[in-house]
Amino acid sequence: MAQGRKGKLNYRCPRCLMREIDMDMLYDREADEYYCLRCSFVGDEQEVLRLNAQFREKYRDRTKRITSF
Ligand SMILES: [Zn+2]
Repeated sequence: MAQGRKGKLNYRCPRCLMREIDMDMLYDREADEYYCLRCSFVGDEQEVLRLNAQFREKYRDRTKRITSF
């Protein structure tokens, strides 16, 4: 059961998140990469985490900009 097709954790696709689409990525064990069926984003765990952190920063900036508008 622990050996899921989706890997240890389900990550959201950072590229889809930026378009406000909530999309789980699939995990390719052979390549050790996560990929998204929707936008064909491919990246390893590090890349996904980095982009997710980047998204959070951008999102915070966006709300900041809106509230100060
Ligand atoms: Zn995607």
